[in-house]
Amino acid sequence: MYPIDLKGKTAAVFGVANHRSIAWDIAKILDQAGAEVILGYQNQRVFNSVESLSKTLTQPSTLVECDASEDSQIENSMKKIGDASNSGNIDIIIHSIAFADKDDLGGPFVDVSKNGFITALSISAYSLIPIARYGSKYMTNGGSIISMTYQASTRVFPGYNVMGTAKAALENEIKQIAADLGHLDIRANAISAGPLDTLSSRVISGYRDMKNIHKEKSPLKRNITTEEVSKTALFLSSDLSSGITGEIIHVDTGYNIMGI
Ligand code: NAD
Repeated sequence: MYPIDLKGKTAAVFGVANHRSIAWDIAKILDQAGAEVILGYQNQRVFNSVESLSKTLTQPSTLVECDASEDSQIENSMKKIGDASNSGNIDIIIHSIAFADKDDLGGPFVDVSKNGFITALSISAYSLIPIARYGSKYMTNGGSIISMTYQASTRVFPGYNVMGTAKAALENEIKQIAADLGHLDIRANAISAGPLDTLSSRVISGYRDMKNIHKEKSPLKRNITTEEVSKTALFLSSDLSSGITGEIIHVDTGYNIMGI
């Protein structure tokens, strides 16, 4: 429990698949801080898992299906979330969504297919734009939009491949969304997290090496915890970060500052 009070706030959290999902840890910490949490889940495949997790939150949570590959689903789900919210508003949006075909997360980057490129960029980067577009309509008291990125946006991590391209696009979007929505007191930031064991990271060939090298080379000489990411999301969701927008905040035990 941290001394941040989000009572009266509503958070729309997209990207919970199971108990290891970064979005789940963020949902829990926002719930503990008093926010009403509404979970946007991808499809029926993850519904049972998301539903049983949602029952462990301290406050009742609404579940809304949202396949982020369809703008119309994002628009409809934002309406459902706005309608379900106790206040009629959305104050916090967590975008913790990414996908690339497994074949494109290994091997030479130059072998990525056009379809693989489009899939990765569409789900992992483009989806933030309609989420901000439709979600901001319900952020009538200002708000905070937070996405999840990785340092492969600016440096090469073999195996991360096209997802690095997607993260570069996502980080640029964060700045443009922050500039677009700032006059509404809506902030947009991304957390650049170090490697964490989740459904998504495990399919990246070379993930184990990334994690071990990170531990060895980072200034703090360890890997990060999911809680360190969710604590940062809590900070970015709260007034403590009221002057911060358009930023990429590294939660990576300092790995990104190292030259070798
Ligand atoms: P995860 O697999 O638990 O989460 C990914 C989520 O994306 C899942 O909930 C999945 O249902 C959702 N998703 C995929 N396609 C979707 C679609 N079409 N519509 C709606 N939702 C869809 O893995 P995670 O590691 O928690 O990933 C969350 C975010 O964190 C991703 O953006 C990932 O790139 C980022 N990230 C992860 C790490 C890591 O090491 N795990 C590090 C840095 C950044």
